[in-house]
Amino acid sequence: MAVLVTGGAGYIGSHAVAALLERGEEIIIVDNLQQGHQKAILGGKLYVGDLRDGDFLDTVFQENSIDAVIHFAANSLVGESMKNPGKYYHNNVYGTLSLLEAMNRHQVRKIVFSSTAATYGEPENVPIDENDRTLPTNAYGETKLAMEKMMKWFDVAHGLKYVSLRYFNAAGAHASGQIGEDHSPETHLIPLVLQAALGQRPHISVFGEDYPTEDGTCIRDYIHVSDLADAHVLAVDRLRQGGDSAVYNLGNGTGFSVKQVIDIARQVTGREITAVIEARRAGDPAVLVASSDRARQELGWKPSRAKLEDIIGSAWAWHQNNPGGYDDK
Ligand code: UDP
Repeated sequence: MAVLVTGGAGYIGSHAVAALLERGEEIIIVDNLQQGHQKAILGGKLYVGDLRDGDFLDTVFQENSIDAVIHFAANSLVGESMKNPGKYYHNNVYGTLSLLEAMNRHQVRKIVFSSTAATYGEPENVPIDENDRTLPTNAYGETKLAMEKMMKWFDVAHGLKYVSLRYFNAAGAHASGQIGEDHSPETHLIPLVLQAALGQRPHISVFGEDYPTEDGTCIRDYIHVSDLADAHVLAVDRLRQGGDSAVYNLGNGTGFSVKQVIDIARQVTGREITAVIEARRAGDPAVLVASSDRARQELGWKPSRAKLEDIIGSAWAWHQNNPGGYDDK
């Protein structure tokens, strides 16, 4: 039986495809290639199309024997979601509804879902665990929470089993050097810092120095993209073994401030990186750090690339070898 990966041409999706390939899984990929890159797909069968097109999804499910879905396809930029929430509701929420309905029509009842720490909003506790309050501070997080709730009700009504993986900050690149992070426009901290190190940008902007943290900049929990990918494979196993629906945080449990990330990038690259303090970015919580105990206990997940130096080092190797990213946009 095959695994359907939606958004398999994207940053995290392409690393999950690589992890599934290493296991010898049959893989079907659906991606509209609006943000994804065809060159990021290391194997599997690609269908180019949009989740909101039910007839297209019927073709994909009819032509393949799919028993599980890993659902990445979504818009995922906090800043953009604050300016254009309608885009996020349409693509993320409606796209997921269309996918769940297609799965239901074709009796596919296992889904691993790409969720986010942004579902929590400003945390009640640090580190955050899965029972903590979910009160998103941005539209992106709100749409991901709506998608999780949709799956819950499809479970109640139709027996859909889901594993929702709430990632903290994905970073780094595949050890092969073949795939890495390439968004256009790029908005994420680590690739932007490395572009500054390469001289592609004059400086890195630091969004806010007046947060209630030790150095005044936001704290995040950076997790290697291949460690995230491994968790998806474990989650598919759990569902195939008849496991019940569940929600798991995925992070390393250690927070780094924006200034600390820039300092470590200076050490890793040996380059000068100019930082310029700017205003806060709308929608950013001050601190997001995960407790991933539940994923460790129930999925048997253990991040194996946890040091931030190594995460940034793998991203640096990708950026140096691919200064224009995939060069396809
Ligand atoms: N950030 C920053 N400058 C940038 C991009 C991001 O200071 O050019 C900050 C951002 O405000 C947040 C952290 O870096 O506190 C991580 O942001 P990113 O967009 O990488 O991930 P997010 O936390 O939004 O998922």
